[in-house]
Amino acid sequence: MLRIKKTQLKSVKRATMFVDTYFVSKFGFSPYRGCQHGCAYCDGRAERYYVEGIFDEDIEVRLNAAEILDTTLVKSREFGIVGIGSGVSDAYQPIEGKHKIMPGVIDVLIKHRAPAYVMTKSALALRDLDKWKELNQVAGVTLFVSLTMLNNALGRLFEPGASLPTKRLEMIQKFKEAGISVVVLAMPFMPKITDGLDQVDTLFRKLKDVNVDAVMPGGMTLRPGCQKDHFFNVIEDYDASLLPFYKNLYRENKQSGSPLQSYIIEEAKGIDKLQRSHGLLNIMPHHLYQDRLQIYDEIWVLLTHMLKIYSRQGINISPLKDRGIDTVHGLRSKRRPLTKQGRARAMN
Ligand code: SF4
Repeated sequence: MLRIKKTQLKSVKRATMFVDTYFVSKFGFSPYRGCQHGCAYCDGRAERYYVEGIFDEDIEVRLNAAEILDTTLVKSREFGIVGIGSGVSDAYQPIEGKHKIMPGVIDVLIKHRAPAYVMTKSALALRDLDKWKELNQVAGVTLFVSLTMLNNALGRLFEPGASLPTKRLEMIQKFKEAGISVVVLAMPFMPKITDGLDQVDTLFRKLKDVNVDAVMPGGMTLRPGCQKDHFFNVIEDYDASLLPFYKNLYRENKQSGSPLQSYIIEEAKGIDKLQRSHGLLNIMPHHLYQDRLQIYDEIWVLLTHMLKIYSRQGINISPLKDRGIDTVHGLRSKRRPLTKQGRARAMN
């Protein structure tokens, strides 16, 4: 049963040193807390996130999200990408259909010409496609869609409140046709359920066909406590014969929720090989943050990604790392004066 709690967003998070290099955002917030999508594996159920009540039934609606974003962007001396959504809520969960917080948020972004990304598993994002298009023209937008399978029956079972996988694929296509970049978060692959190489191959082929900008894959973590218990209950209903396998795989009860290291390595190796064979990038491509960050943030992300790419190729990155760290220290020391120059000059 759905229970709504109307609250206020206290603040928009802002990276105080450099931007995060994974999603590449400077600012971040979620208009909701808790998630009606109720994915069986959702990390948001873990106790460490302190979501009150039942994760997919007690939803906090932050009615003032657009206002707080506006105030933050007015006050900020730096500019950068605004990330909307998180691992513990979805900005386009069904309740957004009623509360319509996102159109106001996009209006604020357009007003400030602030680049943004939104992360979702819901085709409801299509409702605001015209606004996203407008923002994309003035500042740049990336849509992050989480998708690990094309099987609607599995989707219904493991992601019960989210849009069906095929609907998400259609949404990706429509955003791409509208000229908006799309990155697929192919995570978490569920061991022996969605991480079979044939399944992943079919998924990657489809994603290549719709010309996504990147695919960021990842395995599944199950933190001990609510998250793991809930997932095991779902597995028991789905196929109880898988339970001993899962119990063994996550037997170490690591706080991070990681499965056995040997499995992580094997799974990642197979997926990585497929990804390369399809020519799909697994890192944020430069064009998705070029000129959408302060120059020092952009260089920081480029350097970090460069090290990651070389390291994946087995190249010794030690010398480059030292140089890179020196450069980053140099950037840090210049950050304050650069910040004071404000957006206009940093852009030039
Ligand atoms: S859509 Fe994301 S936040 Fe919502 S339940 Fe699923 S994994 Fe969690």
